[in-house]
Amino acid sequence: MHSFRFEPADLPPEAEQVRADVRAFLEQNLADYPAAMRSRSWLGIDLEFSTKLGQAGFLGMTFPKEYGGHGKTAFERYVMLEEVLAAGAPVGGHWMTDRQSGPLILKFGTEEMKRRIIPRIVKGEIFFCIGMSEPDSGSDLASIRTRATRTDGGWLINGSKIWTSGAHLVDYMIALVRTDPEAERKHDGLSQLLIDLKATEGISIRPIRNLAGEEHFNECVFEDAFVPEENLIGSEGEGWSQVMAELAFERSGPERYLSSYQMLLELLNEVAKDTTPAGARAVGRLVAHLVTLRNMSISVAAKLEAGEDPALDGAIVKEVGTLFEQSVPLISHQTLEREPSPHNGDDFEQTLAYTTLAASAFAVRGGTREIVRGIIARGLGLR
Ligand SMILES: Cc1cc2nc3c(=O)[nH]c(=O)nc-3n(C[C@H](O)[C@H](O)[C@H](O)COP(=O)(O)OP(=O)(O)OC[C@H]3O[C@@H](n4cnc5c(N)ncnc54)[C@H](O)[C@@H]3O)c2cc1C
Repeated sequence: MHSFRFEPADLPPEAEQVRADVRAFLEQNLADYPAAMRSRSWLGIDLEFSTKLGQAGFLGMTFPKEYGGHGKTAFERYVMLEEVLAAGAPVGGHWMTDRQSGPLILKFGTEEMKRRIIPRIVKGEIFFCIGMSEPDSGSDLASIRTRATRTDGGWLINGSKIWTSGAHLVDYMIALVRTDPEAERKHDGLSQLLIDLKATEGISIRPIRNLAGEEHFNECVFEDAFVPEENLIGSEGEGWSQVMAELAFERSGPERYLSSYQMLLELLNEVAKDTTPAGARAVGRLVAHLVTLRNMSISVAAKLEAGEDPALDGAIVKEVGTLFEQSVPLISHQTLEREPSPHNGDDFEQTLAYTTLAASAFAVRGGTREIVRGIIARGLGLR
């Protein structure tokens, strides 16, 4: 039987220094941002805000200086993330770009691609989406069917991607495609391509309304869309191992316990106005869980910084964090016995409405609950 251990760790002092700078930026740029918008957390998209964040030096914080990055530590970026998420800033526009696409290009991209793309990411000039899921391939990602067929100077793409967050707004997609349909194993013959969504013909992007009635993710259809040779990321046929490395960038950060933070603040505000024993108990319980999750998440960040592989610990933080995030609107509703109201309610009622509608997706994005529990079971040697 395998086991896990969350070693207590502290954020180093240089990381704490970032906190005041981010708070000052948020105060200046988000002063009148309404509570209902803040509750969108990392689903909120505002590319103008994302660009300002880049101009202020908060994108590509860990990217090397030779590519225009800021050469900071993962802990300094962790503090920045904590602050923007706790403020409910609309970070969805650059979220994938900063967390996944930039690091992926730095790890696997050619020198030319790094010089062409990375400085513009850091300045908040270009944004990315991730084209992995397809209509019949989500959890079983290796079964994707979108084809890239060789043509003069590049590939022609045919097929479709679904649930692609932000594709209707951003500049580029990094797509996982099948370059060799004859490969023996379905995990082989996959590759990652950088697709310019604004300049490529043969791509139709249609937003799909989510449960909250908003347009966040999309269906993207490719019909003979041409992608030039130089936009291959990494090696042809190595897409599966690259994607696994990419998904490791999205493990157990503060986004794994702060998605419902605005709801917790609204509950706290209401309980503070008229404190009952039930209200105090609810807030106490949720804050205790939040602090524990934060400690677990920082412990994983310390392992990552030390070069260890915290796959099991990260999966545990994601699952326990998701359970916590989903419990916040439920407990808020039960504690105050107030009804959600998406449009006409006060801050509490609007936040309750949005967070309740958003919460079911928390256990789907980035790997479903069953898949994450499967990873935990395997990590514990149970399967
Ligand atoms: C808000 C949001 C944003 C998203 N953004 C993106 C994006 O930007 N890019 C992108 O590529 N994708 C994105 N996705 C898609 C997401 O990654 C997939 O929805 C997810 O991987 C599940 O795939 P699926 O929807 O095809 O469900 P399926 O894989 O069909 O799963 C259906 C159900 O079956 C269960 N199941 C499946 N396989 C197993 C198994 N082996 N054992 C036990 N149970 C199983 C699942 O847990 C689930 O409950 C997003 C999803 C959401 C909700």
